[in-house]
Amino acid sequence: MALHFTIPIFIPHLACPFQCVFCNQKHISGTTTPMSLTEITQKIERNLSTIHHEGATVEVGFFGGSFTCLDIDKQKQYLEIVQPYIHNRQIDSIRLSTRPDYIDEAELLFLKEFHVKTIELGVQSMNDDVLKASGRGHTALDVICASKLIKSHDFQLGLQMMVGLPGDDADTCMHTAQMILSLMPDCVRIYPTLVIQNTELEDLYLEGKYKAMTLEEGVDRVAPILKLFLDNSINVIRVGLHPSEEFDKGGKLLAGPYHPSFRELVMTKLWYDELCKIPISEHKDISITVPTSDYNVAIGFNASNRNYLKQQFRRVRFLKSDSLTNFSYHVDYC
Ligand code: SF4
Repeated sequence: MALHFTIPIFIPHLACPFQCVFCNQKHISGTTTPMSLTEITQKIERNLSTIHHEGATVEVGFFGGSFTCLDIDKQKQYLEIVQPYIHNRQIDSIRLSTRPDYIDEAELLFLKEFHVKTIELGVQSMNDDVLKASGRGHTALDVICASKLIKSHDFQLGLQMMVGLPGDDADTCMHTAQMILSLMPDCVRIYPTLVIQNTELEDLYLEGKYKAMTLEEGVDRVAPILKLFLDNSINVIRVGLHPSEEFDKGGKLLAGPYHPSFRELVMTKLWYDELCKIPISEHKDISITVPTSDYNVAIGFNASNRNYLKQQFRRVRFLKSDSLTNFSYHVDYC
């Protein structure tokens, strides 16, 4: 499989006309001022100098803010920086993230001209009450209309959802996941809601009006959603916030299910649920053959699944198979 690289450019809060209760992009991206055009060029150059893989695809990703909310000249400035690299084939395409209510036909035609290939929409929820309680300023219908328009113009569609927003629960989250699935995105990101300093959610949390999920609750809430997407061959490109130095240093995250290996924890839980189905026999040795790609998560974070099985069997061995996929496995007793 060809390697794929994304050079991320964060444009925190630039031009975003809203203030979602959970969002402080300045803190999440770990930077307080937007990068200048010169700094963006330097970052692209720096990244390109480290990519030496034949046949690799490379894209520039504008993340963090709401790209299409920028005035058109600013959008053009950003996109123009990348064009020389696209023309000399060092970069293949551009991806960007934005809001569903800032997509229309004219915008899409404009982005096409500049080799934008992938548009990611911040959906967050497909429940209008949750969207309202979260200060999103758009509706579920906006997501449906924008997604259809993006696909009809042959862009790759990415959809980002959150779990644990004010007013949502396991059912509304699953409904959001099912609605997202029905829009047939090319990729999905799933983020558990975190309480970050200097957000409205911080006030709600400190006033006792918002209860943050524990790590265990977050993992349990996300697990069936991730399974739904994987079972339907949706490419889930991220689960949980990217480990950032800011968070690891502490101070900006107040509460919520943050873990640097959040996806691994969720996959461990999904594999635990599968392995619990194996009939117990403490007198037997057992070999479990799992998909090669899932070998580590089947054994579990900190080998927790293997340790669980060791309580039920005399000896436990995990084996890899390239021919198995998506939570399928073989059990051999000896
Ligand atoms: S729309 Fe995006 S950038 Fe704007 S406040 Fe909400 S999450 Fe933050």
